[in-house]
Amino acid sequence: MSSTQNSDAQRQLPVRNPRTGIADHTIDVCNDAEMAGIVSTLRNHQPEWAAAGIAHRRKVLRSWIEHLYADKTLLLEALAADTGRRLLATTEINALQALVEGWCYLGEQVFEESVERPSATPGIGIKSHYIPNQVVGVISPWNFPLLLSTIDSIAALAAGCAVVIKPSEVTPRFVEPLAASINAIPELRDVMKLVTGDGETGQAMINHVDTICFTGSVATGQRVAKACAANFIPAYLELGGKDPAVVLPSADPGHAATIVLRASVQATGQACQSLERVYVHAPLFDQFINELVARAENAQLNYPDINKGQLGPLIFDKQAEIIADHLSDAVAKGATILCGGTIENHGGLWLRPTVVTNVTHDMKLMTEETFGPVIPVMPYETLDEAIALANDSDFGLSASVIGEDLEEAEFVARRIDVGAISINDGGLTTEVFDAGKNAFKLSGLGESRMGRSGITRFLRQKALLFRKDPAKGLDSLDESQAEI
Ligand code: NAD
Repeated sequence: MSSTQNSDAQRQLPVRNPRTGIADHTIDVCNDAEMAGIVSTLRNHQPEWAAAGIAHRRKVLRSWIEHLYADKTLLLEALAADTGRRLLATTEINALQALVEGWCYLGEQVFEESVERPSATPGIGIKSHYIPNQVVGVISPWNFPLLLSTIDSIAALAAGCAVVIKPSEVTPRFVEPLAASINAIPELRDVMKLVTGDGETGQAMINHVDTICFTGSVATGQRVAKACAANFIPAYLELGGKDPAVVLPSADPGHAATIVLRASVQATGQACQSLERVYVHAPLFDQFINELVARAENAQLNYPDINKGQLGPLIFDKQAEIIADHLSDAVAKGATILCGGTIENHGGLWLRPTVVTNVTHDMKLMTEETFGPVIPVMPYETLDEAIALANDSDFGLSASVIGEDLEEAEFVARRIDVGAISINDGGLTTEVFDAGKNAFKLSGLGESRMGRSGITRFLRQKALLFRKDPAKGLDSLDESQAEI
C-alpha cells in the first residue's frame, strides 16, 4: 500500500475495496504528536470514569448501544464495504450489545471483591482494591474489523480504563460511523477514541499508552512485544493459528464433513480459529473426502450479488498472494487439488472452498497460516499419530475433535497443545464468551482475553491488609523466642 501526502503534510493511505479491487477511500495516518495529544486527553478523563463505578459505566455503555442500534445503516454499509460481506458485518454489529452486557456483568463480579474477607493467615482481613490502568491501546486486524476493535476495548472500559483504538488500515471505513456513535454519548467520547493509520500509528500508540492489546500476525506481534518491553508496558497478544481438526474413528464422515467445511470456510477462511488442516482416521478417509468435496462444490460466492452465497471476497490482496503461494508450493510437492484452487479475479478476489489431498508437513499449506478457504486433508492410522500431527506446529491457538465417542474425543482434546478445543464443532471460541483460554506457542502471549481475566488483566491489584487482633510489639523480635 503506497502512501501519499496532502498539502498539510498529513500522511494519507489509499484503501482498496475488496469487491472491486479499486482504491476508493483514503485515511489519514495519525502520527506520534497527534497520538500524544489524544492519549493525554484520555488520561485526564480516565480518573472520573474509573471513580464513577461499574454500574455507571454500564449505564453509559448501554446508552451508546441504544443510540448505535437506533440506526445501524451507516455502520453496516461501511463495514460491508470494508469486508465485502453483509451477514458477518451484521453479526459483528449485533455482537456489541452482548460484549457490553457480558463484560459489565463480569466487571460487577470482580469489583464486588472490594468487600473485606478473612485471610487464610489468622487475624488478618483482606480487601482487594483494583486500580485500572489509565489508557489501554487496542491494535486490531482486518478480518473482523469491528469485533476485534471492540472486544478488548469494551472490557477495558468496563474495568475503568480509557481506550484508544487503531483498526487495520486495510478495513478502516467503519471508523467514521463508529466514532460518530461514540461522540454522541458525552461521557463515552472522553474515554473512547478511534484513530486511523498503519504501523507508524501502532508504534506511536505503544509510545504513549499504559497497556497494549494487539490482535494480528505473529511477525507484527513480535515487533509489538519488543516495543512494549522497551517501554515496560504489558502487551496482550492474540496472534495467528494453524488450527487442526482430528476426525476420530468413531466419527460419522458426513457429519464430520459438514462441520469441517463450515469451520474452514466461514469468513472465507479469514479467521484466526479457522480449521486449516484436517487429520482423518484412514478407514474413513475416502468417504470423508467424497462427502467434503460434494458439500464444498455446493458453496457459492457472494459475487456478483452480495446478498447471495456463503463466501465473501478475500479482503486483503496480499493475503491472496500468500494463499496462491501455499497452493502452488503444495502442488509442486505432490498435493492434489480436488475442488476450488483458483483465485478468481472479478476486480475483487474470490476463492471457492478448496479441498487438497496428498499433503505432507513439508508443505507451507500444512505448517504456515494460509487464512483462506483451503482444506488440506491427511489420513492417520493411530490416535497417537493424529495427536503428534496436530501438535507438529509452531502455533497453538485452537483445534477441533470430531467423533461419537466422547471419552475418546476428550482423551485426544486434552493432548492437543492449544488453548481451546471445540468438540463436535469448530471455532466455538467465537460463540463462547466466558471460557478462559490462553494462546499457546506462537499464537499469543499474556492472560486470557476471555473469562474473568478479560477484565482483571486491565486492573492493578492493591491489597489492603487489616490486622484484626493486636499487632505484635518488640517482644516478638526477641532472640530468646527462637525455636526449631
Ligand atoms: P498484521 O499483524 O499485519 O496487522 C495487525 C495490526 O497491526 C494492524 O492494525 C496494523 O496496522 C498494525 N501494525 C502493523 N505494523 C505495526 C507495528 N510495527 N507496530 C504496531 N502495530 C502495527 O495482521 P493482519 O494481517 O491485519 O491480521 C491477520 C492476522 O491476525 C492473522 O495472522 C490472524 O490469525 C490474526 N488474528 C488473530 C486473532 C486472535 O484472536 N488470535 C483474531 C483475528 C486475527
